[in-house]
Amino acid sequence: MGIVEKAPKKIVWRAIEYYKQNKVLEVYENGKDCYSAIVAGSGKTKYDVFIDVKHPKKCTCTCPFAKENDVICKHMVATFFSVKPDYIADFEEDEWRYSEDKNYRWQKDKERLKAFARKMSKEELVDELAECWLELEAHRRRDI
Ligand SMILES: [Zn+2]
Repeated sequence: MGIVEKAPKKIVWRAIEYYKQNKVLEVYENGKDCYSAIVAGSGKTKYDVFIDVKHPKKCTCTCPFAKENDVICKHMVATFFSVKPDYIADFEEDEWRYSEDKNYRWQKDKERLKAFARKMSKEELVDELAECWLELEAHRRRDI
């Protein structure tokens, strides 16, 4: 898996912003498929980033987030995008397709349930709706 796939989606979106805001100040090749970079953080901080495209586990960054959690951070992903900008469009397209799929499935399920509901009597519908509301309430209480 690559750096982008390994990173949480939220991190990738932040990294795209970082890249577009030119926060990757310097980047140079540092071995085969490896790059070192200086990335601006929020405020005046700058972080030293090292990425190994083939081995994401070997990536390092001096930001507190990466140091404490040993994970892919936005600075690493932003560095990756600065050397492989084509991957941004790929990621955005995948995300768009995924959300389209989700909408499509939702609409299809909704149509199926509507067809089912049309066959019920009003009393049955009222009963079913009341049950659904109760269940939804229970769910919401559990989420808190
Ligand atoms: Zn970092």
